Amino acid sequence: MSLKLYTKKRKFKETPEPRGKILKRKNKSLVFVVQKHQASHLHYDLRLEKDGVMKSWAVPKGPSMDPSVKRLAMQVEDHPISYNTFEGIIPEGNYGAGVVKIWDKGIYAPLDPRGFHTGELKFVMYGKKLKGGFALVRIKPKEGTDDKRHWLLIKERDEYAKKNTKKEKTKSKR
Ligand code: MN
Repeated sequence: MSLKLYTKKRKFKETPEPRGKILKRKNKSLVFVVQKHQASHLHYDLRLEKDGVMKSWAVPKGPSMDPSVKRLAMQVEDHPISYNTFEGIIPEGNYGAGVVKIWDKGIYAPLDPRGFHTGELKFVMYGKKLKGGFALVRIKPKEGTDDKRHWLLIKERDEYAKKNTKKEKTKSKR
């Protein structure tokens, strides 16, 4: 776990984003946040607490509650836990310039935290929008490459699953 890349990418004299540090919390529920990030391309940043940082994925189309929908999730640099409350405008000329808003937040529970390493992570979310089981599944790197950043975010079939309605489809395009 490291925030080196997070720190390196940002100019804290210019961006209102928190500097943050690794914060191991004992006997606390693990938290998650999803931030809607209107950068050069709109995406949703899914962040899951693990070992004092927020493991982070950029999901271009946002999470879906429909188990038949697989959403590309690009793993990005670990963020500090203090990023979870961040909303604001990252000024032009800075990494990720644009508007950040909290889209959902809550606690989550991984079924087996080794999934972060094995590339098959199942977890339960207790958010306002995101509820029930989800899986993050790493896509095998292309032959001859070592790019492990590509994952798929998939809703598990449970009582919270929904068929993707037209309404949700239009929403995710915005
Ligand atoms: Mn982002």
